[in-house]
Parts: sequence; structure tokens; C-alpha cells
Amino acid sequence: MAGTAARPDWRNGKLGTRVRVALWLVSEIGEGRKFTKSQLRNAMPGVEQIDRRMRDLRPAGWSILTYRDLNSLAPGELLLDKIGLPIWEKEHRAAGLRSVTATVRRRVLERDGHRCVRCGILAGEQYPDGTGSTARLTVGHVNPHKYGAGATEADLVTECARCNETAKHLTGLKLDEQRVWDELTELPGRDKQIVLNWLVAGRREPSRAEKAVSHVWQLPAVQRESIEAKLARLLSS
Ligand SMILES: [Zn+2]
Repeated sequence: MAGTAARPDWRNGKLGTRVRVALWLVSEIGEGRKFTKSQLRNAMPGVEQIDRRMRDLRPAGWSILTYRDLNSLAPGELLLDKIGLPIWEKEHRAAGLRSVTATVRRRVLERDGHRCVRCGILAGEQYPDGTGSTARLTVGHVNPHKYGAGATEADLVTECARCNETAKHLTGLKLDEQRVWDELTELPGRDKQIVLNWLVAGRREPSRAEKAVSHVWQLPAVQRESIEAKLARLLSS
């Protein structure tokens, strides 16, 4: 059968627990067959949170029934009702996972220049509404309403907590269309074009200068000061 040869061994301790549990279920149990929690724990002794990792398979399309779902099962007994997505394969690794791995998060922030793609604010920057509140960046789904979306880089964008909440609940601020339109028409022509491009793209493309600044900010303070001093010398020479 295609794909079977490439399936990794569940005994490989380098694989994540969720992947190992999935592989163990496929290789040692099989669809439609019963197993017990002790069998699973004994297969991977010393592995933490093994029950939880098994439950984490459900959003990836795995159906694992307990005695609560099926009264022919005894407590502690489970039924592998349906094998879901092959999460041991790279493209399915993140299936059903809500959390974003640290590496993916870092890559998304880097790609987006450490700024909110919706409103363009940088981490720690004050919102321009005079409330004095500062931005905190999060990594959110491109489509916040897509349930059980994968958490690969392509599915994620950098958003500030405020834009992320607005996208989720569609609450917005207490503004009406006329007020927003009046504000727009008062902008200089060049700014109107910037706003239009931004709206069409659905995101702000940071300028080269802004990207460079966001990179400087990621350096330790000593290096930041060194760069600032070098730049000042360069410009004054
Ligand atoms: Zn924002």
C-alpha cells in the first residue's frame, strides 16, 4: 500500500507524543479495534500527558470512543473508531492543533516584520487613539472563523491583540461610515492612495525602512545603541 513504507516507527522517541500515539494506534491497534489506556501508557513508559495527546488527535479527524460514548466499553477501555489524518506526514503535522509552535510563531513574526498586518502597529507602540494603550502582538489565523484550521505559516498572520479581537468578534469601535469617510477625504492625495492600497491588499506592506527598524529592535540593547551611533556618524559625515 502506498505510504505505508514511509510511515515512521512509533518507537522513535524523537517524534512528538501526539504523532507517536497516532502511529501506535495505526500500527498496533487498527481501525475498529479496542485498546486500553494502560496498553498505551505501557507502550510509551514515562511519556507525559499521553491521554491528552491522544485526545488532541480528535480535531484531526480521529474518532476514539470511550465507555461514555459506547456503553459496551468498560471504563479505561477505548475503541479506535476511525483513523483520521496521517499527522506523521509533514503536511498534516499541524492538523487540528490550535497552538502554534514556537518556531512557526517566530517565522510568522519575522515574515511580517514584527508588526500587525491589519493596522501596522509595532510591538509596544502606542495606539494612535490617545488612550495610551500599547500594542501586544499575537499570531492569528488568516481566517479567524475557520474552525480547526491548521497552524502552518501560510495560515497565520501577525496581528495586534486589538485587531485580533476585532476580527474574532467583529465588534469594531463605535464609528459610523460617514465619520470614517469624512476623516478619509481630509487626507492628502498620497495618503488616500496608501489607504486604498492597504485596503485592497488587506494588509500593510511595511516599507524597507520600517522593516530595517523592526530588525534593529530585535537586537540586544547594546547592539541597538551601536547601530544607532554608527548610523548617526554615517549621516553626519
Ligand atoms: Zn493591529
